[in-house]
Amino acid sequence: MRWKNSRRSSNVEDRRGQRVGRQGLSGGMSSPLMRFLPMLIQKGGIKSVLLIGAGLFIASRMGLDVGGLLGISAPQVGQSQTVEISAEQKELGDFVSVILADTEDTWTPLFKQMGRTYEVPKLILFTGAVQSACGQASAAMGPFYCPGDKQVYIDLSFYDDLRNRHGAPGDFAQAYVIAHEVGHHIQTLLGISSKVHQLRQKSSKIEGNKLSVKQELQADCFAGVWGYHADRHRNMLEAGDIEEAITAAAAIGDDRLQQQGQGHVKPESFTHGTSEQRIRWFNTGMKSGDPNSCDTFTVASL
Ligand SMILES: [Zn+2]
Repeated sequence: MRWKNSRRSSNVEDRRGQRVGRQGLSGGMSSPLMRFLPMLIQKGGIKSVLLIGAGLFIASRMGLDVGGLLGISAPQVGQSQTVEISAEQKELGDFVSVILADTEDTWTPLFKQMGRTYEVPKLILFTGAVQSACGQASAAMGPFYCPGDKQVYIDLSFYDDLRNRHGAPGDFAQAYVIAHEVGHHIQTLLGISSKVHQLRQKSSKIEGNKLSVKQELQADCFAGVWGYHADRHRNMLEAGDIEEAITAAAAIGDDRLQQQGQGHVKPESFTHGTSEQRIRWFNTGMKSGDPNSCDTFTVASL
């Protein structure tokens, strides 16, 4: 990607090196399902979300130390440590800020065309664990969007996982992750997320999972819409970039992750869609540049 001379966003909050105490966790976990479910729904989905989510839920129900379960130390609230941020990490933060700025420059005019005003989200950089309106989250859960505070959260070490564990290197793969989470923000602003949330409460687990897949594939499509505009209007894409995003989308498909994690695939438990679906919906947005092409909720077949 060509990004170094592009605009930086003023909506990145750098909490790297800050620690999160358990006080917020125990306070915030009084209704763990309510706290974690919206977040899990919105998750980037990149890891064994359900497994970790279920583990957290069970652990919190049983009164276990959730922080300990995930190997997070338990310092006091507000305690911070000075952590040297490497030049590489600094550049990565800079990169993410450019991508966020570009999503702002993409979605502001698109919302205007819809007769709406785009409310920019904040992006929180953190290391290890973070407190959000959706509860406390560990880096192991991957990047996520919290509708409760309209913020995107990412521990940038996720990009190491994306490259090393999932075989998806490259800056456009990294940008796709941000654009996908911003896609959940778009869904929140358009009222789609709350509709899905209401529907899910009335649905069976299998039906709920199907709704989640539609929501996730739409976020992939919205990420593609951003890619189209970044390319067309700001000439950010280079040869090989689209392939990087496609490799990433494929790497985090439910079928691929389940096959790797459990050695078999359970389609009824999918929450994010197959690799093929994720690629296809990303491409749909990438080719059209039009959010209206991302209606995963009414299409006959996903
Ligand atoms: Zn997602």
